[in-house]
Amino acid sequence: MKQITVVGAGLAGSECALQLADMGYQVVLYEMRDKTMTPAHKTHKFAELVCSNSFGSMGEHSAPGQLKWEAKKLNSHILEAAFHAQVPAGQALGMDREVFSAYITEKIHNHPRIEVRNDVVTSLDQIPRPAVIATGPLTHDQLAESMRKHFGDEFLYFFDAIAPIIDADSINTEIAWKADRYDKGTGDYYNCPMNKEEYNRFIEEIKNARKIEPKHFETTDFFEGCMPIEVMVDRGPQTLRFGPMKPIGLDDPRTGRYPWAVVQLRQDNKEGTAYNMVGFQTRMAYGEQVRVFRMIPGLENAEFLKLGSIHRNLFINAPKRLNKDLSSKNDPWLFFAGQITGVEGYFESTCTGLMVSRFLHQKLSDRVFTPPPRVSAMGSLLEAITDETRAEHFQPTNINFGLMPPLAEKERDKEIRKQKQISLARTEFENWNA
Ligand code: FAD
Repeated sequence: MKQITVVGAGLAGSECALQLADMGYQVVLYEMRDKTMTPAHKTHKFAELVCSNSFGSMGEHSAPGQLKWEAKKLNSHILEAAFHAQVPAGQALGMDREVFSAYITEKIHNHPRIEVRNDVVTSLDQIPRPAVIATGPLTHDQLAESMRKHFGDEFLYFFDAIAPIIDADSINTEIAWKADRYDKGTGDYYNCPMNKEEYNRFIEEIKNARKIEPKHFETTDFFEGCMPIEVMVDRGPQTLRFGPMKPIGLDDPRTGRYPWAVVQLRQDNKEGTAYNMVGFQTRMAYGEQVRVFRMIPGLENAEFLKLGSIHRNLFINAPKRLNKDLSSKNDPWLFFAGQITGVEGYFESTCTGLMVSRFLHQKLSDRVFTPPPRVSAMGSLLEAITDETRAEHFQPTNINFGLMPPLAEKERDKEIRKQKQISLARTEFENWNA
């Protein structure tokens, strides 16, 4: 059976390698972290989650929920690992990051048709075809340069920030209480309440805190879904209260009412010994993070297992440079998967790995290219990154209903409309000859 090279054992690369190996291909999988780390990864494990420990909503009538439904139909290994490592997180699919990555790493090492090479790929010319490049937003500089030459233009980029993780024992549970918003779920989040004065002081201190400001950050483009809290504060003092600090539906048991603002903490590992600050990505200097976050009631003595940070993300102008099957327009046996193709998010990255495994298989079997149905979540994601009309202002996207085509007949009720869209997506996806 044909040998395929996959570069990068992140979310997309691990999924793609396992899928191809399951189909019977021999896979050579390169991963560089034994030799050199990225600025955001911390371990040598495959499919490491660099920031939040959540794959987002599992909601049956949500676009991210539909993407998971479709991935399950394709026997996603990443999704299987997520369920194996699942921690309570309300409607979201939260995971113990260590258990999750260990599961995938073991699966890859134990697969008889995957050969792992712990090495840095420095040039596209170094690897045989067919190949899949899944080196992510923090692609090694030398390979990034080789890709830049291959495509003949600059990469696009934006910035992503990481939220801190707290030692559970250091949370003051006399103040922070456990609950899900509107009491949906089993009370998985810790909630740290703030009154108006505390909130205003907190906002002032975020404004005053020293930030990490490399010179090119003045023109920084942040991804909306991962925006640092300081950037939100710059948009207005109340922005956090309508964003990650939204208090509504979180009644403090001590008062019976919802407070002025709330900081939520989500369980980060199976044991429940670590919690991450939901939506608190930050580029404040380390010392300032400790000082400012300890102002949060319930976190006065917080011990930080990991502090927040910020990183530049590379991505290709996919509508301009990639074919519909995510192969290069300059080399039809060179495929790309993961965030580098312009999707945003762990699970969206995973799904491009899933899709590319199918596209490669179709091509190697001399079959006509058959993308996932346009009405499905995967089809919509693919369209969003390969539609040539988007090339001029191309920006990364995660899955949302806005990417899915409208229904043929109008439906005024939003909930019914969504249900109909999901039901159509499911029927069509079931019939996809992947
Ligand atoms: P990765 O998972 O990064 O995998 C790429 C792999 O390729 C890495 O293991 C890397 O070591 C390897 N590699 C790179 N270059 C080479 C080379 N030349 N040779 C060999 N190996 C190489 N998404 C979310 O959904 N939630 C978040 O909270 C979140 N936070 C983020 C925070 C930061 C700082 C960043 C950068 C991104 C974040 N993302 C987040 C976005 C995105 O979902 C993740 O980056 C995701 O891991 C992308 O998956 P991937 O497979 O494309 O890349």
